[in-house]
Amino acid sequence: MSTAAKPILTGGCQCGAIRFAVSAPPVKVSICHCRMCQKASGAPFASFADIDRENFTWTRGEPAAFRSSSIAERDFCRDCGTPLSFRRIDGPRIEIMTGAFDRPDRVIPTQQFGTESRLGWVVGVANLPSQTTLQNYGPDKLGGIVSNQHPDHD
Ligand SMILES: [Zn+2]
Ligand SMILES: [Zn+2]
Repeated sequence: MSTAAKPILTGGCQCGAIRFAVSAPPVKVSICHCRMCQKASGAPFASFADIDRENFTWTRGEPAAFRSSSIAERDFCRDCGTPLSFRRIDGPRIEIMTGAFDRPDRVIPTQQFGTESRLGWVVGVANLPSQTTLQNYGPDKLGGIVSNQHPDHD
């Protein structure tokens, strides 16, 4: 990222040891249901914002990486374990997991891949019985919890 470029999106891991900044809109935002993304995210699917490398900077800390295949590595925080990216080795882009952004509502998937592994229940998730965190915990219990999560800003 050039020194003049102002970040339009920022984010980082849960503990805050790793932070990043993005200076241009993502090239693409997508979901991947493939078995490797399920494992790497520990979730039913992963979602990624593809960023050209010249528009991306790690602004705090250096993530660890796992070479998940002969063509790709996945970055994560070695302190808290948050999965952060998928990237092709020597490729022109980095794919940042959208839950790691400070404003995940601003990175909206428009495509999905790896659908051979898509779990059947995913399409019905909006119809499951729903509660907010406050409704689930109640005000007393929720008020007594101390968060160790880094806030959603630098
Ligand atoms: Zn961390
Ligand atoms: Zn995948």
